[in-house]
Amino acid sequence: VKRLHSEEGAILKPRPPVVTVMGHVDHGKTSLLDALRKTAVAAKEAGGITQHLGAFVVSMPSGASITFLDTPGHAAFTAMRARGAAVTDIVTLVVAADDGVMPQTLEAMSHAKEANVPVVVAINKCDKPGADPERVRIQLGSEGLPLEDLGGDVQVVEISALTGTGLDKLEEALLLQAELMDLKARVDGPAQAYVVEARVDRGRGPLVTAIVKSGTLSVGQYIVVGAEWGRIRAIRDTLGRATELAGPAIPVEIEGMKGLPMAGDDITVVGSEERARMLSQGRRKKLEQGRLERMSQ
Ligand code: GDP
Repeated sequence: VKRLHSEEGAILKPRPPVVTVMGHVDHGKTSLLDALRKTAVAAKEAGGITQHLGAFVVSMPSGASITFLDTPGHAAFTAMRARGAAVTDIVTLVVAADDGVMPQTLEAMSHAKEANVPVVVAINKCDKPGADPERVRIQLGSEGLPLEDLGGDVQVVEISALTGTGLDKLEEALLLQAELMDLKARVDGPAQAYVVEARVDRGRGPLVTAIVKSGTLSVGQYIVVGAEWGRIRAIRDTLGRATELAGPAIPVEIEGMKGLPMAGDDITVVGSEERARMLSQGRRKKLEQGRLERMSQ
């Protein structure tokens, strides 16, 4: 594996891209994620879970992987951003080939631009008789998106989430985009991570789907997550297999939180239970103060 050194001397390793799917309502975001998730599970042996965990990984025959955030739409993207969690590396902009560019298509474009996140366009529903991908290209071009076909650097792929046509091309385009971005992360040392989704399981308690930005999370560590804390009792990959460690950009499910954090919360590793309690208490106080201040305004 290629290893490079950053200025501080930390070892950086290439990491998979984290991709968000955005686009106008009914243009096929959910269908696309369903189709991609199926390829992720099919690649593993049968019995892979279909449970929604907020993120999943598609592994390519080449050994490369792509992490998809499993929440379509703009709310998740902006909620994460508002909480400072810039987890997305690439936006897949879904545009229906029959419907063309619509208000939420433009909204997605401006979100991506504001966040400085590159876009790969997936023209969907190309199986439909009324599909007109050429028209979509012209529309996007006239909205200022520098498409590859017109000499720009934004890749465009024609797909059908329904039939699965072009999904391999989309995955290739995302990997090429990732390669151009030269995505790397520090692997050694304490982890910095973000909550993608959190839920309570009756038997296992609070479960947090997390994506590590840098470093490595491991079983037994004390963590502070937003204003909550816990000790990592178990780590599972998105196919439900237990693991001891979690490295950059691969989503994992963490068991062992004392309370339920929120999507977008940051995860910090601390040295002891005492520190974990202190830090979460301090953050809770701050949240409470903010709430009181807002109420008195
Ligand atoms: P979302 O609102 O963007 O998540 O869109 P959905 O995934 O819910 O899709 C909206 C509708 O379009 C559903 O009825 C889908 O079955 C249909 N649809 C999605 N992708 C395709 C496609 O590639 N081809 C065709 N013909 N229909 C599609």
